[in-house]
Amino acid sequence: MRVPVLAYHSNNISGDEYARNDHVALAEDLETIRRSGRRIVPLARVVDALLGEAPAADVEHAVAISFDDGSWFDWHDIDHPACGPQRGMAGILRDFALRTGAPVHATAFVIVSPEARAILDRTCLAGRGWWGDDWWRAAQREGLVGIESHGWSHNHATLPAALQCAPPGGTFRTVADHGTADAEIRRASDWLDAHLAPHRTTLLAWPYGETSDYLVREYLPLHADEHRLRAAFGTRAAPVTAGSLRWDLPRYVCGHHWAAPSELERLLSEPATARARTG
Ligand SMILES: [Zn+2]
Repeated sequence: MRVPVLAYHSNNISGDEYARNDHVALAEDLETIRRSGRRIVPLARVVDALLGEAPAADVEHAVAISFDDGSWFDWHDIDHPACGPQRGMAGILRDFALRTGAPVHATAFVIVSPEARAILDRTCLAGRGWWGDDWWRAAQREGLVGIESHGWSHNHATLPAALQCAPPGGTFRTVADHGTADAEIRRASDWLDAHLAPHRTTLLAWPYGETSDYLVREYLPLHADEHRLRAAFGTRAAPVTAGSLRWDLPRYVCGHHWAAPSELERLLSEPATARARTG
């Protein structure tokens, strides 16, 4: 298997051109994917194939799409104060599916803590209540956008220390003990499972793609009965292959690993070599 997983940040809106707006990029990229002959499969299917729970043929010549952070821009159409009306990422997927009949799916990795999102809405967005979880259940039910974990607080640098589980600074590189890992990872699974039942959270995307040896070699592999995750995704630029590390699976990040349709085309057609993690 050799499946590129693409990551978008719907909060990335600083203009109306491809390189400065992940909504514009996604709309264009769906066409590029279609032209490449690849089909879009749910990210969970890629993990099924990786773990031998589905045949590799299920993800042959496939690509998977993911969104990070879980704000309203993933779902709702919003009038952006500086850049005007933005079609939500889900609407872009629906528009494409209606027009082409092609199957679409995306996995939204959401920041789970309601308190953290309320603050991030003010520190990272316009402070208009655009980081609510009102849409998560509807998304999960409809089946177009799956909801999975991006950790409890993202350990985001703009959060007060009391809301950051890991040592401050917006990174998971320093997480080296069970209590801190539980506070960011297991707690996020618990909240999502309670609020989105009967859906069960089984996937994680590392905030900023950063992780630690403890998390990848010890906490996730040895405490699966506690956190209930099947796989975790980082931001190393490579396709997912049978040899990929289950707890730090690679993803390509829009705006970092490609910033133009031609670059995505190249990425989808050529075997890629691993590059630095980012995003
Ligand atoms: Zn993030």
